[in-house]
Amino acid sequence: MKIFNTLTRQKEDFVPVNAGKVGIYVCGPTTYNFIHVGNARPYVVFDTLRRYLAFSGLDVNFVQNFTDIDDKIINKANEEGLDYLDIADLYVYEFLADTDGLNVQRATHYPRVTEEIDGIISLLRDLIDKNFAYEVAGTVYFNATKADKYGKLSKKNIEDLEAGARVDINPDKRHPSDFVLWKVAKADEPSWDSPWGHGRPGWHIECSVMARKYIGETVDIHGGGVDLMFPHHENEIAQSEAEGGNFVNYWMHNEMLLINSQKMSKSEGDLFLVRDFAQKYGYPLLRFFLLSVHYRSPLNFSEELLDATNAGLARIKECRRNLLDAGWTGEGETQHRQAFLSALADDLNTANAITAIFDLVKDANIALRENAVQSAFLVDLDFMCDLLGLQLDDMNISEIDVSEIESLIVQRDEAKKVKDWALADEIRNRLADMGVEIKDTREGTKWHLTKV
Ligand code: AMP
Ligand code: ZN
Repeated sequence: MKIFNTLTRQKEDFVPVNAGKVGIYVCGPTTYNFIHVGNARPYVVFDTLRRYLAFSGLDVNFVQNFTDIDDKIINKANEEGLDYLDIADLYVYEFLADTDGLNVQRATHYPRVTEEIDGIISLLRDLIDKNFAYEVAGTVYFNATKADKYGKLSKKNIEDLEAGARVDINPDKRHPSDFVLWKVAKADEPSWDSPWGHGRPGWHIECSVMARKYIGETVDIHGGGVDLMFPHHENEIAQSEAEGGNFVNYWMHNEMLLINSQKMSKSEGDLFLVRDFAQKYGYPLLRFFLLSVHYRSPLNFSEELLDATNAGLARIKECRRNLLDAGWTGEGETQHRQAFLSALADDLNTANAITAIFDLVKDANIALRENAVQSAFLVDLDFMCDLLGLQLDDMNISEIDVSEIESLIVQRDEAKKVKDWALADEIRNRLADMGVEIKDTREGTKWHLTKV
């Protein structure tokens, strides 16, 4: 497999640290809210990577953390009059409900910050001892100037960072790029006893500690959204490589999901929760949607694209049902399987992999029409969808009969041609009852599903 490594900005052959094994670390959520459709992108993308590597014969150790202590969790707990851990537990539970719905396989380990405090304190002690970190009045900072090549992932250099950071200079920091490893807890805030007084960890340190504990000195693949590249991932590297070594061999970053071509703001995130999407359209459509574009391309969430994706998924399901009805369930292999696997081997190109699925559907439909039995179609279709984690047996969507919809639209077009408006309206109503909305456009009648 070739992977585009953010560190080198190049596609490289993937070679694991230990033959036959792969350690993957993915930054997880801060658990104070339901996840939104943008957050779902990395979880679905890296789950697909994991499935592909497991299919390739590797033994996968998949680690994803939960940030269960943070200002946002504390604020929410105060608003709701609950303990911060109750909030964290609740949203860990809801995260798992959503990712289970998205058919994301459970991680091998889900470490939580509040359960890893000893490891964090011990790494901080070490960093202070070796002069990579320093304490000022109970707060511990990482000394960024001591890091070898700070900025190497995001391609920023420390002088530019210094100029950029001058605006809000913190007099306790020796350099503007220094960052917090441990902070003093305010009164009434959860805190842990440490050599620097009562406090709690900064955000970046947890990933360095957990990756080392659950994977080892070197992580094969570290994933997350591009928004985490700086400063979070840069700081993870600084912490983990302070004493030498190589923290991560391949860095993978997914591009953002945009809403109507705009970056999602926090308030918009609340409008686009995975949970709400799932209630309206079902989880499988979101997974299919997120994989329909290569992970390194921005993905624009729009009604039109969603409709097209919905119609695509319905087409796959209809083909599968017809293959089942025809009894074409034997063994074999089509050329589409190879195209599909080559696409995934090429930096997890799920967009091209899905094209291979549609090519198979096209061929299968022709064969079905000509009654030219080829049993391999169904086996391969199931194999491909399974590897992408796409669930085709979800009844919501499979009940929609695409050919019936299309034939009704043709009948309606004919009724309109002979000015039989009553019949045309009747067909429109029938389609509406089936959950199909139609639109007359210059390019002909377009349809989309209003409910699935
Ligand atoms: P957060 O809880 O904000 O740290 O986000 C959890 C994960 O979702 C991280 O890997 C982020 O990079 C990713 N993420 C957040 N917003 C988006 C978005 N709009 N599109 C794609 N990924 C996102
Ligand atoms: Zn992280």
